[in-house]
Amino acid sequence: MTSRFLAGAAALAFAAAASAQPYPTKSISLYVPFAAGGPTDTVARALGVAMGKALGQTIVVENVPGAGGTIAPAKLKGANADGYTIMLAHIGMSTAPALYRKLPYKPLEDFEHIGQVVDVPMTFIARKDLPPNDFKGLVDYVKANKDKVTLANAGLGAASHLCGLLFMSAIQADLTTVPYKGTAPAINDLLGGQVDVLCDQTTNTTSYIKSGRIKAYAVTSKTRVDSLKELPPAAEAGLPGFEVNVWHGVYAPKGTPKPAVDRLVSALQQAIADPGFVQKMAELGSQVVGKEKATPDGLRTHLRAEIDKWTPIIQKAGVYAD
Ligand code: ASP
Repeated sequence: MTSRFLAGAAALAFAAAASAQPYPTKSISLYVPFAAGGPTDTVARALGVAMGKALGQTIVVENVPGAGGTIAPAKLKGANADGYTIMLAHIGMSTAPALYRKLPYKPLEDFEHIGQVVDVPMTFIARKDLPPNDFKGLVDYVKANKDKVTLANAGLGAASHLCGLLFMSAIQADLTTVPYKGTAPAINDLLGGQVDVLCDQTTNTTSYIKSGRIKAYAVTSKTRVDSLKELPPAAEAGLPGFEVNVWHGVYAPKGTPKPAVDRLVSALQQAIADPGFVQKMAELGSQVVGKEKATPDGLRTHLRAEIDKWTPIIQKAGVYAD
């Protein structure tokens, strides 16, 4: 049986079901490639509420962590293409093809692209008792102690890993990295003093910074972040040109029937205009994208551009997994 026949059969079955009751008629699973309680999970849960409201159904977040966020897309590729399984994934979709030699999916070809959601800057943070008090001091301290400073991340290809790579290359220091299944467990160890430094998204770090439970040095955006005005951009505080923007997109398995894709796109459009969602994201330092980006074309175009941007950087760094 050809895949075209199967796709046709799925569309017919979908159309038959749709004539009885419009999609969606039951809850939808939203895969998240990292641990519960972390930054991707935080965006996913807020988005799930906003899109669920627009769809009139519950969106249930399912954490599928591991391998730097590559297990969830592999699972999504094999999931039923019926509109009831989707995924929120970040910048890692554009870096995994260069990082993983045996990546079991092709980000541009193996999925339906629903749209972009939010852009999230990162923050350089450290355990509370790390001596330096500003970003310049952090850079000097790390350089002087490169044999003992540990840098946490959420695995090869996670945003925290990319930020760490750029940081180490900018200051020319090779640090010991400690991988976790997400930055929620990484931050727990930072709070406990088991690791020293982490670069993580504002969606995860803002509340810890505000409560003073960790030290924060800089943001990775070009300009200051409204909700964390006290932190300078790393590019202004000692690392010219340093910038990491963690963008997020929603994906569905390839072959998801067009009416379901269209409905998901329109629910995403409603979510990015939902004042509750926009405000929650802003409080956490992140910015909801404009309407034209929250579309299949918007996501595909950005994904392609980001693959083109990161592939040579990663190849030059010589980092990969077999
Ligand atoms: N998104 C985080 C990172 O890339 C991980 C997480 O969501 O837990 O580092």
